[in-house]
Amino acid sequence: MEYDQLKAMLDTHCCAQCEKPLALVWDSSTSAHALVCGTDRNHAGYKTIESPGQAVARGKGDKALGQGAQKDMEKALAKAAHPLSLLAKDDLGTGKTIAPDAVAALVKWGDSLGLKPYLGHVCLYFGKPYPTIDGFYYKIVRDTTHLHIGTRPLSKEEFTTYQVPEGAHAWLAEAWLGDTKLPTTGLGIVTKEEIEGKSDRNQEQYRSPVVHAHPQRMAEKRAEWQLLRKLVPPEEVKTDG
Ligand SMILES: [Zn+2]
Repeated sequence: MEYDQLKAMLDTHCCAQCEKPLALVWDSSTSAHALVCGTDRNHAGYKTIESPGQAVARGKGDKALGQGAQKDMEKALAKAAHPLSLLAKDDLGTGKTIAPDAVAALVKWGDSLGLKPYLGHVCLYFGKPYPTIDGFYYKIVRDTTHLHIGTRPLSKEEFTTYQVPEGAHAWLAEAWLGDTKLPTTGLGIVTKEEIEGKSDRNQEQYRSPVVHAHPQRMAEKRAEWQLLRKLVPPEEVKTDG
C-alpha cells in the first residue's frame, strides 16, 4: 500500500477488532510503513468508520447513540412517511428499477429472514435477493461477536498475484474469528472503464457517477459484500438470534 493511501486511511478507517483509531508506523521488518491498531498492535484488520446512521442500520445504535436508541430509531423509521426509503430502488446488478411487485416480494423475503428492509437490509442483484452489507452485519456479525471483518487496498505484489488490470482500484476483505484469520477473502475491483465509462444515452455523463466519484470506496464495498456472501449463504441468514 502506498504511504499516501495509508495516511488517508487514518481518517476513514479504524481497527476492525476494537474499532479504536489506527496508527501509522514504520515496520523495520518489512522496511515499509504499516497501519496498526493504535491500542493493541496484535489486532488485525481495518474497517470503515461507521456513521451513526450506519451503526443503526447494522443494529449497533445503542453503542453509537446510547442505550435504547436502536429500538427508538427502528420504531421511528418503520413508521416514517417512506418507510422503505433506505431500500435500493434499482437492481444492483442490472441497474434497472425494481418493479413494485418485485419490491413487495423482496420486502417479504427480508422480513422472513428477520432483516429490516426499511433499514436497507435487502437488495436485488441480477434478479436474485441478497442481504446488503448492512443486512449481513445486522443479522450475522452482531450475533457472532468474535467475527470481525477488515478491508484494505491490495499491495503492489497482490495487484500482480490477482492480475488486476491497470488503472483499476482493488480492495481485499478479510475475516478473523477471534485472533484466527479465516481463509475466505473477498476481492473488490473497480476497473478504469467503469470509472471513465460514459453513459450510452448521454455521452456528456458518466455511466456511473458514484463509481466515478468514489472508485476506492466502491471497490472496498464490493470486497466486503463478496466476503459476507461467501461467509454466510443467504439461506443461513434465517438462524434467528
Ligand atoms: Zn484494535
